[in-house]
This record gives sequence, C-alpha cells and structure tokens, in this order.
Amino acid sequence: MTEPAALPRALESGRPEWRLVIHGGCGNLDHGLLDAETEKAARSGLEDALAAGTEILARGGNALDAVEATARILEDDPHFNAGRGSVLTYEGAIEMDAAIMEGRRLGAGAVNGVTATRNPISLARAVMDHSPHVFLSRGGADEYSRLRGLEQASQDYFETPERRHQLDELRRRGGEVFDIDVKYGTVGAVALDRYGHVAAATSTGGLTGKRWGRVGDSPVIGAGTYADDRAGAISTTGAGEYFLRIGVAHEICARIRFRQEAAGGADLPRSEAQAIADSVLAEVGGLGGAGGIILVTRRGDALFSFTTPGMYRGEASPAGRTVAIYADDPVGDAAA
Ligand code: ASP
Repeated sequence: MTEPAALPRALESGRPEWRLVIHGGCGNLDHGLLDAETEKAARSGLEDALAAGTEILARGGNALDAVEATARILEDDPHFNAGRGSVLTYEGAIEMDAAIMEGRRLGAGAVNGVTATRNPISLARAVMDHSPHVFLSRGGADEYSRLRGLEQASQDYFETPERRHQLDELRRRGGEVFDIDVKYGTVGAVALDRYGHVAAATSTGGLTGKRWGRVGDSPVIGAGTYADDRAGAISTTGAGEYFLRIGVAHEICARIRFRQEAAGGADLPRSEAQAIADSVLAEVGGLGGAGGIILVTRRGDALFSFTTPGMYRGEASPAGRTVAIYADDPVGDAAA
C-alpha cells in the first residue's frame, strides 16, 4: 500500500499522530489467579507486540502493516490462543482462524480452519492483497498458503502441553465447548496511522474442543474484525457464537457513523464511543455471551470494553505505552 503524501487529519489538535491498541484475549482473570511467572510472560508478550507495531507506526508506516506485525508476535507467543499455543479441536488438532481489514478502501482478507501456516494473519493479508476473494477456508486456505510461499509449520510446532491438558480436562468434564473457566485467548490489534487510516487484525485457535468445522467470530468480517476510516477499527474476543449473532465489530462502527452523521460529521467524543462499545457488548451479554473488544476511533481514542473480570490488553501512542490484565489496571488515556 502506498502512503498518500498529505497527512489528512493526522495532526489535528488533540489527536495522537498514531495509535495502536491490542488484546490477547479475556476471561476470569482475577487478581491472584495467574502465577507470577505466567503473568510476567503475558505482560512481556504484550510489550513485545506493542513494540513491533510501534516501530512501524513511529517511522511513518501504515496501520495495516502495523496490525499484521503486531499480531504475528502474539501468534508466535505460546501464551496466547493464536498461531503457536492455539487451542485444540475435539480431535486434538490445530485449526486456526484469522482476519485482517483496512479502513481506507474496506479491503479485507480472512481464513478459517488453517492447519499449517505459521502466521495465519499473514495468510489473511495474502488473501486480501493477492487473491480475488475475501474469505478462504480449510484445505483451500492451506493450499493457497503454500501457493503464496508462506512459512509452513507442523502441528507439533503449534501444540503446547498446556493446550493438550485443557482439551483433556474439557473431555473429562463432559466436552462442553464453551470454556467453563471463561478463558478466551484470541489476539487482536487495531491501529490508526499518521495518514488517518485504520486497520484491524484478529487471530485465534478458536475454542477448545471445537468440532464439525466450527467457525467463530474472529475471522468473520463484521463480527470479530472490522475497520472503516469513517469510524474506527475493532477486534473482539470472547464466545464467538454470540458475537457472530450481533455482528459486533460492524455494529459498533455503524453506530459510530450514524452518531457522527447526526452530529454533522464531527468526531465522536471519547465517552460516546465508549458508551456505544459498552452497549453493543451489553447486547452480547443479553444473549448470554461474555467477552471484550478493543477499538481505535478515527480520532485516535483507544477504547476497551469487556464483560469478563480481565482482558490482556495494551496501547501505544507517541505518548508512551501501557499493558494491562485486570479490570482495575489503568491503561491508555485512563493511565495518563
Ligand atoms: N472469539 C474466539 C472464537 O469464538 C475465541 C476467543 O476469543 O478466544 O473463536
């Protein structure tokens, strides 16, 4: 993607030159639940991911490259449910989903049920950049990955002992696919670049014990992932079956656009964007689903909303960066 020479809205007053927001999933993350080592590793994984995206955005790179690079770091980190460390299907296999979208032309790419691509987010990007399609699935997506020459990895590379243990536990307890401990480890990144463009990326192994070719919200454009320069960019995590039915990511963007239009095109104040995100998540809750979202608005606000006790998350801008896990950890503008 070639950057335009002008910096359209980037340097308007009060707006950060660029912004990056990430999540590494949400769940029953109460203080004291994680052992110190796991917590430290998760925080440093989030830091590394922010550093990768920051490096791109700070030197004038675009939001799309930044969210892809950020998601790749989280995919490579076995602590999160994406790429290496993905959860296992009922049969004990790895089947990964990913989606990427850019808000300038509404370009999008998505893959479902990928088994051998080391970084599924880059396969989603290849679908967007090089194929005439938006969404490739299972064997066909694997084939396209090889055709594009993307790095392949064996199932052994992706599987970790912790994920095998979780599947064994789930089967022992009766095979209920929705995590009874409420732990969702999907990863996501959203960014606004200095040219005023936004992008979103989401990558996941899905839910432990999933079967029958189950597809969650993460790779579905408009459900788990959406980006539109007119509103902002969103990535979700949580019980996908509920997010799918609300079309969460697009719903939030659409409501932001409607409100902006009603206000004569003015940017939405941060508090109003937060209220929209919270109310869409409340609808998910009304159906019985828990989860969270990250949002960067077109004016560069970094917003988080989640209905679980915690969410692995972080944000970066020229003002610095913060990572957080628990609901009461300050992050983003709240940390300033
Ligand atoms: N949303 C993902 C799915 O339903 C799971 C997650 O967020 O961890 O596949």
